[in-house]
Amino acid sequence: MSDPLRLGRQSSWGERAGHLKVIVPAQGGPGARIEDGRVRVCLHLHTRPRSSDASLDPVDALCMAAAAGADFLVLTEHDASWTPAALAELRAAAGPEAARTVPLGGRELCLPDAHLLVVGALPPLAPELMGPGQTRALVEALHRAGCAVVLAHPWDVRWQIPPRMAKEWGVDAVEVVGARHREPGDAGLAAMRAAGLPGVAGVDAHHPEHLGLIPACLTLVPGWVRDEAGLIRAIRRGEVA
Ligand SMILES: [Zn+2]
Ligand SMILES: [Zn+2]
Repeated sequence: MSDPLRLGRQSSWGERAGHLKVIVPAQGGPGARIEDGRVRVCLHLHTRPRSSDASLDPVDALCMAAAAGADFLVLTEHDASWTPAALAELRAAAGPEAARTVPLGGRELCLPDAHLLVVGALPPLAPELMGPGQTRALVEALHRAGCAVVLAHPWDVRWQIPPRMAKEWGVDAVEVVGARHREPGDAGLAAMRAAGLPGVAGVDAHHPEHLGLIPACLTLVPGWVRDEAGLIRAIRRGEVA
């Protein structure tokens, strides 16, 4: 794998977002930690074969997330969930280089009205919940199943979803950065503030050339987050930056 420190932009969305806390890219190479007491999460990434539009090897993704200082990597696949056994195999395959980063199985649901990132085990969902006009009911079902739900790339040209709509749907947070997607700008951030919606960063990596963007797209959660349940709690409480 390429030297991660030579990849990626060394800036943060928080600097541009003003009111939102700054995300500092990790420095110092594999295993480095920034001692500010917060936990770093790579929240939005796709690998093959569980996302049919991705070519990224999950072992490379986990190693890069570790090199970037991530404590968790949420694999938000499009088409299939990671089982606990598969996640354990992935950790074993990545070896000690990636030991600091815990991979978690999530999903990105591609719906007619929006793309939703789900953290936690996806419950069985009635097909009608996946149709147009059902996003609010779907988010409720995901919450009942104990998941956290983040609206992915709402400012992307294809979507242009206003924060008040995201609030109506009941999502826990919205993706403010994606390096690979349009960002909200001042008006979008003001609308987010008005709607009381927290923002998160997500790289939405699909291919090896996206790996270098991970350090600039980490979401921060409080230091008490130790596992998937804690991460879900932090997102649902809006304790994200
Ligand atoms: Zn998407
Ligand atoms: Zn995605």
